[in-house]
Amino acid sequence: MPTTATESLSDAARKFVEGGPHKLLIGADWMEAADGRTFETVDPSTGEAICEVAQAGAEDVERAAQAARAALEGKWGKMPAAGRSLLINRLADLIEENSEELAQLEALDNGKPVTIAGAVDIPQAVAHLRYYAGWPTKIEGETIPVSWPNMFTYTIKEPVGVCGQIIPWNFPLLMASWKISPALAAGCTLILKPAEQTPLSAIRLGQLAQEAGFPEGVINILTGDGETGAALVDSTSIDKIAFTGSTEVGRRIGARCGELLKRVTLELGGKNPNIILPDADVEAAIKGSFQGIYFNTGQACNAGSRLFVQKDQFDTVVSGLAEAAKKAKVGPGLDTGTQFGPVVSKEQYERVSSYIESGLEQGAEAVAGGNGGGNGDGGGYFINPTLFTGVTDDMKIAREEIFGPVLVAMPYDDLDEVARRANDTDYGLAAGIWTRDVANAHNLARKLKAGSVYINGWGMVDAAAPFGGYKASGIGREMGHANLDAYLEVKTVWTSLK
Ligand code: ADP
Repeated sequence: MPTTATESLSDAARKFVEGGPHKLLIGADWMEAADGRTFETVDPSTGEAICEVAQAGAEDVERAAQAARAALEGKWGKMPAAGRSLLINRLADLIEENSEELAQLEALDNGKPVTIAGAVDIPQAVAHLRYYAGWPTKIEGETIPVSWPNMFTYTIKEPVGVCGQIIPWNFPLLMASWKISPALAAGCTLILKPAEQTPLSAIRLGQLAQEAGFPEGVINILTGDGETGAALVDSTSIDKIAFTGSTEVGRRIGARCGELLKRVTLELGGKNPNIILPDADVEAAIKGSFQGIYFNTGQACNAGSRLFVQKDQFDTVVSGLAEAAKKAKVGPGLDTGTQFGPVVSKEQYERVSSYIESGLEQGAEAVAGGNGGGNGDGGGYFINPTLFTGVTDDMKIAREEIFGPVLVAMPYDDLDEVARRANDTDYGLAAGIWTRDVANAHNLARKLKAGSVYINGWGMVDAAAPFGGYKASGIGREMGHANLDAYLEVKTVWTSLK
């Protein structure tokens, strides 16, 4: 199904797209959904369909879970730890070798600028795999000095088992890498479900995993929507669910996993405060805060969406941000001159637009954007970077996660006040502080209820550094050994030496 956008694709990316309808990877085989259903994935830069993809149902989930269980009990489960490292590294190498194609698929399917996908998403996905490729040979148990005489007691770390991994559409391949890397390092097998808006790079990832030589059933790819995700959560053949997505769906998944006593980690939403202190390097703070909210068209759970500026500097900061927002190049993902792409879908376009309308209705002023930028019917789903002033803490745009290019800027008087207002949210994913004063920086960092605090920067990420949420922003941590532990069970072995 050729579209206008596919004309600018490389041969490899075009071949992949035209190879559709794409199927499900279950065990060693690519197969149609048991009930034959498919869905269309859409290019948000044009609103045109890209290709058809299989829509997995509950029967496919059970088939994939059986394949994953067989791999766990077979070749993969018996493989020495060093073998897992080798395969994870091989997959990282293949992603790197195919990075141009993967960046184009991300730009086509998600709308993000191809240059950003090539500079951030793909290399970060590779780095994540490489970090976790180092872990398998370092997963050690302990010898425990128990108080019993003549007793030898030790622990073994074992993989949790078959994991269902449900990811969002904002960084499709990167989110896949965040999920599969620790699971594979721990020795688990997995069923990855990409978001229905952006299935393409996960399908390509499945092909590359086969090429890397992973035994069949270790990595299964089920494309589909929320119904497919819910079937993974409901399946008693799956031992753990790892989810990244909205808080609303996360709550439901957490409740169901609690009922089934299934292991679960949740990386959810945020309404993240970004605080500029009076002694900050204002120019750096404006630049960083701009990227902090508008990067990826604001479609990041850790976007700095609530900006607090001390009242004496408020006008300076706001005019700097508004000027940059008005100059921003918003355009199609595959255009190399694009700074910010469209939002991911018509649904998301309507959602973000309704938040902008609600801001205006409640009396806030849009000093940049606020007027869409494209249209949601037939064209791309473009929304200009929007900056609101005249916002009060209780307005909808100041309380709810918008997940789009919309920033609310609010003045404050003193540090205690801003700390209280920053924490006055259900969320607790990230927070930012701009200051040159070390004591203020670290005192405030301790007060903020957030899983990540960025000082004089925004959105720093590294596979070695834990990332996750306080409060309604989630349960558990991605990255670092914290996330490895989330894929391991601890077994204690007691031996009487009498
Ligand atoms: P968004 O609203 O931003 O699309 P969601 O939380 O709805 O975010 O989606 C994130 C991921 O969760 C996607 O892969 C989606 O298909 C999946 N999903 C949506 N609803 C459910 C559900 N009820 N159970 C499991 N997964 C779901």
